[in-house]
Amino acid sequence: MTESAGQKAPSLSVISKQGAEYKLLIDGVSVALANSIRRALVAYVPTLAIDEALFAENNTSFYREYIAHRLSLIPIKTDMSYEELADNFYEPKREVSMVLDVKSDGDTTVYASELKFPDGQVATTHPKIPIISMVKGQSLRAELTARVGTGRQHAKWQPVSAAASVNYPMIKILNENCGDCKKCVDACPTGALGLVDGKLKVVDPLACTLCQACEEACPGAVEVGSYPDRFVLSFELNGQIDARTALMAALEILNRGLRSILSQLEVLTYEKKAD
Ligand code: SF4
Ligand code: SF4
Repeated sequence: MTESAGQKAPSLSVISKQGAEYKLLIDGVSVALANSIRRALVAYVPTLAIDEALFAENNTSFYREYIAHRLSLIPIKTDMSYEELADNFYEPKREVSMVLDVKSDGDTTVYASELKFPDGQVATTHPKIPIISMVKGQSLRAELTARVGTGRQHAKWQPVSAAASVNYPMIKILNENCGDCKKCVDACPTGALGLVDGKLKVVDPLACTLCQACEEACPGAVEVGSYPDRFVLSFELNGQIDARTALMAALEILNRGLRSILSQLEVLTYEKKAD
């Protein structure tokens, strides 16, 4: 009888964070699950975005439609827990009102910092986004409504952009004592390989793009592949919610969907017993 090694428990850790850009390691999951998490992050996690604009005054040089379009793409602070976000995925309810009220005394640029909640707080985490230019004597006044929505409806609701899930590279050096000719190191376009104390080493596995140039440079000495159950999830936050809330909401939305299916399977079990 052979002994099963069992499935390792899935785990998640931070590889790097630079400003709004994150790289996370997701280990012990299938390619389907890793991609489901990525897709839920992009397309399912709701955020607030301006969805209605009522212009009380606009004598600027810009059409209302143009201004409304620009306003809709400004990331709006979405102060909600991951549970509230999951609730709003299944039943969108949250609405927040805002005002934009600018009078120009001279040539000026209107920035997103002019977007205010009713309590006077700036409504965005990106106050330096320019909206329009104005000249002396012009004024712009609009009442705005932000509503929850998801990236599958429109990109303005995406909490992240440039989200990718790629296999974690597996680079095997078959003979570490091969010498120091460096042909494979020089062939590597990303610096994943290097010589350390005269020995060939993998110095930056995450830099590897699986291009196989090293294998071609020295056949039989290096083997490149990828882990089947280990992935690097990279994304850049757009600014409505933080990374932890976004990921927890993505997992909670997937979890609630699966639990819903599970509860229906339980109904089938009762039906079977009743037969
Ligand atoms: S693996 Fe081949 S190319 Fe790379 S250092 Fe060794 S002998 Fe040179
Ligand atoms: S597969 Fe390409 S990127 Fe990766 S180590 Fe080899 S040469 Fe470098």
